[in-house]
Amino acid sequence: MSLASDIARRSAKRLRTSDDIDGSGSASSEANEHHTPQSADTPSRSFPRVQYGPGPLVGIKQHPEFWLDDGNLVLVANRHTAFRVYAGLLASQSEVFANMFAVASSNADEVYDGCPVVPVYDVPSDFAHFLRVLLPKESRTFYRTAKWDGLWTFDAAAAVLRLAHKYALPGLRDQALELIERHAFPGDGPVPPLLSSNSKPALAFEPVHAIAAANIARLVDRPAMRLAALYRCAALGPAVLRGWARDDGSVERLDPADLRVCMDAHAALVRERAALCATVFDDTPHGDCATRRQCQEALRRLEDAVVGMGFWSHGPGSGIVDEWGTYLWKRATDSGLCRGCYHMVETRDREERRKAWERLPEIFNVEVEGWKESLRGWL
Ligand SMILES: [Zn+2]
Repeated sequence: MSLASDIARRSAKRLRTSDDIDGSGSASSEANEHHTPQSADTPSRSFPRVQYGPGPLVGIKQHPEFWLDDGNLVLVANRHTAFRVYAGLLASQSEVFANMFAVASSNADEVYDGCPVVPVYDVPSDFAHFLRVLLPKESRTFYRTAKWDGLWTFDAAAAVLRLAHKYALPGLRDQALELIERHAFPGDGPVPPLLSSNSKPALAFEPVHAIAAANIARLVDRPAMRLAALYRCAALGPAVLRGWARDDGSVERLDPADLRVCMDAHAALVRERAALCATVFDDTPHGDCATRRQCQEALRRLEDAVVGMGFWSHGPGSGIVDEWGTYLWKRATDSGLCRGCYHMVETRDREERRKAWERLPEIFNVEVEGWKESLRGWL
């Protein structure tokens, strides 16, 4: 019997509406009737078989967005959420999907409404983010105009990146990677997009997302991004231990080895910042300063203000990488610093931050090829 007629035969026996997906009423008994245990002579299969109870989708939730009534394949993510989709559309984009579906279809004994049921071991909300790109229903993109004001969430970008990597869609993976690297955790300089108010953000993210960014950078082997993300993880302080609560309620934690690195790096970073403050606000005025006493006083007051900001307060200048921000520079102007001393402080600040940033690979024990050269563009 051909696969098509086999599926048709089974589907006629099992035909039920999507409302039956919870397995209530007659669906369960019907499913019981037709559930055939694997016989001893069934050939072994490379794709893992999942038993969903008495019927193929009993106890499984139907995804509200990706349940296409005429779809020909049911994917069940993490054993609790089902997506009914078009197999050919996914298989044509990913060889991994193509191989998975070929193996599953030729061996499937779990069929729902004529569709082979295939398990995937991914977080359902991540899988939905992935499908929004592969099977777009609302966010079709042809040419991105200047008026486009879309804003990706970090959850979506991270999910697309991970799954594009897993299912071998390198082009899509690289797009998601660039989105995260450029707009959240740049590996070639400490651009603080969280603090930038001048440019329209393309990615909504929070400091805690550094945890996922570090894990992703490890997954796709991006040492520069990993370093930037680890620096931000260290900035989280004790909160890094709580992990990142994802939008599906699960918690993603930093890789244990990276957690240890962050703990070790913290003390070194505190020392770096103390040294940076002492050098930048050294009370020796500029050589051409005509108001030396006034400028000395101003420099001391500025150092007190910076030290009082606290390390890792997430405010401008609280770490060793982000610049002080307009607040401090306005304060420097108001404090009576002469023009020469003001520019001297600016120069010292840039120089000391560059040196501190250059030492980051050593502090975090992450080797990054061309790290110092990559900093020349911004310092
Ligand atoms: Zn001066």
